Parts: sequence; structure tokens; C-alpha cells
Amino acid sequence: MILPKTNRLTPEQLDEITRIVTEFGCQIQPIVGAVRTIYAIVGDERDELMINRLEGLAYVDRIDRIQSPFKLMDKRSDLASHRIKLGGVTLGEDLLIIAGACTIDPKNPNFFYETAQAVKEAGAHVLRGGVWKPRTNPYTFQGDVKSLDILMEASRRTGLPVDSEVMEESHIKLALDAGVHSLQVGARNALNYSLLRAIGRAIATRDTAVLLKRSIHMGPLNEFISAAEYIAAFGNPNVILCPRGTTPTLDGYRNHPDESITPLLKEKTWAPVVVDPSHSVGKASYVPSAALAAVAYGADGLCIEAHVEPSKGIGDDPKQALTPDVLKKTITQAKQLWALRR
Ligand code: PEP
Ligand code: MN
Repeated sequence: MILPKTNRLTPEQLDEITRIVTEFGCQIQPIVGAVRTIYAIVGDERDELMINRLEGLAYVDRIDRIQSPFKLMDKRSDLASHRIKLGGVTLGEDLLIIAGACTIDPKNPNFFYETAQAVKEAGAHVLRGGVWKPRTNPYTFQGDVKSLDILMEASRRTGLPVDSEVMEESHIKLALDAGVHSLQVGARNALNYSLLRAIGRAIATRDTAVLLKRSIHMGPLNEFISAAEYIAAFGNPNVILCPRGTTPTLDGYRNHPDESITPLLKEKTWAPVVVDPSHSVGKASYVPSAALAAVAYGADGLCIEAHVEPSKGIGDDPKQALTPDVLKKTITQAKQLWALRR
């Protein structure tokens, strides 16, 4: 990683370092942070002669060679001072709340419009809504691209940015062209490296965020953070880690709640952690305590499923979604707990 003396290199300087690393079979990938840009050396960066030549340039401050499987997302990386902003919240400075329906019902758009308004009034900063759905049973509703229009209309009506899951490469362009602010990578695709690479490429020059869920089968910490690195390596470091419960399940819950991995993640990476208590416990009555537990463990935010009338929802909503009043109480208590933690 090349750290220039100034906040970013001039085009001429970038050309010069690109020429040098190319001689050694490497490439340069600029990673644009809020204040400064750092320049990752992609390829085998161990060649001492290449490092010496780069270190000899007057405008280079230093070359950072941290030994880590995820050198950008590592807590020791110079990107550690990067702050991700979403929905008017700077992660780490305020508790981020993402809330909304599991699945947008294209036949009943009013449920989503009303839910969007209700989650805004409850204190959410970002609206979530599933357009395409990863369903265990191939015969159940798989989502509908028509819901993308409903999602964006709800965003316009409420002024809230939106988070929605993309499952294949073709979804990425549709979602970005529509104006989706945060792309969700679901637990089933958390290790789909070609999808992660495609997302990285597509958002490299945008300020889009990514909510990356933890893979279902007790995804190890390094594997989770490395998946985030796949995206960041293309130049956009706005990746948020989202524990959402793992298997084997804890008898009675949908998954095994894993908010307790938050402090462990934070020892290794600077990436913000936004916990999803809804998929973790899988039942609305357990969600508020799981949400508070996540905040107690140090989460930077929560992603909660909510619906104005859960029993009339589709996907996970009948089981998991909080009603607006319970959501509001949960958000209020979560913010109080967050304040105690500071
Ligand atoms: C969802 O957010 O509705 C979802 C399917 O999430 P996960 O990938 O965590 O199961
Ligand atoms: Mn869901």
C-alpha cells in the first residue's frame, strides 16, 4: 500500500508509480477514502527493488506492508480512519438503524409505502426492502423486479436511502441504475466471490455502501473480513459487516445468534458492524432483546425487519417483522444503550 505525502497523487505521479509496479508484474488500485486516497499494490508486492524504487520517490511518504489476508480491511490499515456515511449517519459516531420489510409485495405496494413511512417515524435512517429473494424452497415467491420501482418510490416519498439484496450480476446494474444506496449481499451469497468481485467493480467509483452478511455456516472471522476485502480491493471501501446468526441453530431460534462476535471482529478490522437480529432469532418476540444484545456487544447499527401488518406480509415478515410500535421502542432503547456505551 502506497501512502503519498499529500492526500492524493497527481495524474503524473500516478502514472509514474504505475509504470514502476508494472515492471514488476503488479498494478495499482486507488482506494478513495473520505479524506485521502491510498494506493494498493495489487500483485506480489514483496520485491525489495520495487519497494526501494517507490520509497525513493519524493512524493511518497511510506509503503505500508502489513502482513494480513485482508490488508485494506485490517484494523492496522491506513483505511482505518475511513468513515462510512449512510442515511445521514456516520458509522461509529451514531447508531445506524436500517429497517423495513423482508420482502416487498409487488401486488400490494401500499404495505411497503406505509411501512416505509412507519419505519421513518420510528427513527430508522435507512429503509430496507427485498426485491429479489433467496428462498430455500424453489416453489415459493422468489421476488419480482417490479418491486424495485416500489422500493425507489418509497425512498422518494420518505427521503430515506434504501438497502436491498442483489443475488446475481444482472441485479447489480438494475439496482444501481435505479439508485439503490446500499447493496446487500445475503448469507447464502456471502462467499460467492464472483458476485463480490462484480459488486466491487460496479461500485468502484460510486459512494454506494455494501451490507455484507455473514455466511450461514459459522463463517470464520477471517473468511468474513476477507469477503469484504474482495469488494474493497476494487476501490470502494464502504463495506459494512452484518452478523445475522449462523447454523447449527440454537434450538428454538431460526439460527444461532452471533452478535457476540462483534468485539472479535472489531479487534481485527475497522469495518463497521451492523447486526441483523431478525434473521438471527427468526421470531418477532425475540428480536428486541437480540437487538439490544447486539448494541451491548458493540454493534455500530442494527438491520431489523418491520412491517405495518406483519401477518399480511410475505417472505419472513409474518414471523419476523416488528410492528412499528415495537420497532420504535426497540430503537429508543437501543439508542439509550448506545449512549451508555460511549
Ligand atoms: C434478508 O435480509 O431478508 C435475507 C434473506 O437475509 P439473509 O441473507 O441474512 O438470510
Ligand atoms: Mn428476510
